[in-house]
Amino acid sequence: MRDYQHTISMPLSFSGIGLHTGANVSARILPADPDTGMIFRCTDTGTEISATVENVAETAYATVLSAGGAKISTVEHFLAALYGMEIDNAVIEVDGPELPILDGSALQISQAIASAGPARQDVRRRFLRVWENDRIRRNGSMVVVSPCVEMEILVTVDFPASAIGRQWAKLTLNPERFLKEIAPARTFVLREQIDALRAAGLAKGGTLDNAIVVEGAKVHNTEGLRFPNEFARHKLLDFLGDIALLGRPVRGSFVAVRPGHTVNHAVAEYLASPVRSAFHDPPVSTGKVPVDIQASA
Ligand SMILES: [Zn+2]
Repeated sequence: MRDYQHTISMPLSFSGIGLHTGANVSARILPADPDTGMIFRCTDTGTEISATVENVAETAYATVLSAGGAKISTVEHFLAALYGMEIDNAVIEVDGPELPILDGSALQISQAIASAGPARQDVRRRFLRVWENDRIRRNGSMVVVSPCVEMEILVTVDFPASAIGRQWAKLTLNPERFLKEIAPARTFVLREQIDALRAAGLAKGGTLDNAIVVEGAKVHNTEGLRFPNEFARHKLLDFLGDIALLGRPVRGSFVAVRPGHTVNHAVAEYLASPVRSAFHDPPVSTGKVPVDIQASA
């Protein structure tokens, strides 16, 4: 994992439709100063929403952030791409209510970050370190957390649809592996859920170009799957996007059993709790003697 904070070296532009709203939206990722973290800037209302655990408003079908009366939906794939590519600071401008879904994965965003290149900043990253074993459960999902010098994630999923069935995916986080193994994995939906989603006013922008549609043993997309375990890989991508809301790189191991946004958010809240934040790694010495020591010498 990188020791120093990074932003992106140039602005990156994306456009497309929002998965749930169906709105046509444009988004830009802009470089930002050290210690900015991730900020969503809604250009139509002029409001800014920090990508933090406290600003999470909904986790039912997508992660929705809200602050100051503004709301932005489906942030998880953009945040996963930035987190997976180890970008610490960026402003994400968006001119609509939701981020564009693109092809349903984080590939285009991650490739754009990789080709633009990360820009190293002169401030150390402040890691959040997992210090004890624990488990977090929410509605049939469970995440086991334990100490680790890297960030390691193992995700298992278990669906009655035999096209998915039981499968798993694993990642030790670094930008090259994230780009190759996780970023291309697309979001997915069960055919039988589509009517209910549409009736709830969701998935208005969903098509076979931006989601895998599964019905029993069948994958409806003519191009098939990008990986045999694309579903587990996408759940790992979503997990990273939700953990990114901590605003810090994490040293810890996670075993996520049937994860979803709700349990992922609970894990982020658990790690962000004041008791555990006391264990954040302190910034590493810059080589300069701190002022209070100089004064007493
Ligand atoms: Zn997703």
